[in-house]
Amino acid sequence: MKFIADRMLGKLVKELRMLGYDTVYYRGENTYQLIKLAREEGRVILTRNTKLLPKRPEDRIIRVTEDKPSLQLSELVQKRYVSLKEETFFSRCLLCNILLDTIPREEAEGIVPDFILYQQKHFSRCPQCSRIYWQGSHQDNMQKKIEKLRISTKSQVPNHK
Ligand SMILES: [Zn+2]
Repeated sequence: MKFIADRMLGKLVKELRMLGYDTVYYRGENTYQLIKLAREEGRVILTRNTKLLPKRPEDRIIRVTEDKPSLQLSELVQKRYVSLKEETFFSRCLLCNILLDTIPREEAEGIVPDFILYQQKHFSRCPQCSRIYWQGSHQDNMQKKIEKLRISTKSQVPNHK
């Protein structure tokens, strides 16, 4: 599932990218344009706008009801729009929304702080903005958040008897 989120949902955009979801951030105010982009790229619209309604059968719109940005991702997880797949976590640039390339450690030398270079084994780089990522570069809070999401979704699974 690919998403396009409207301007109200900036934090959610970053978090979805951290989970590996292809998510475009639409900062404009033109809802016609938003729907058009979603159609062109086969994306599901994420919005807080109650007036935004599907105009054609293929338009898919998810309305985020939670207004606290810190709780919006967990809303999507609990409603099963988003699932947590470890193999895709942290595979995407948070700024550019494109998949990162794995790079050898030597290529990070001189770019990341020395202590990071010695602590870390795995580095990846965004082919577009050249930003370098490593385990822990932006991930600590997110790891904690993912753990919480896991626990909260588990407790919501109904018992099958
Ligand atoms: Zn990038």
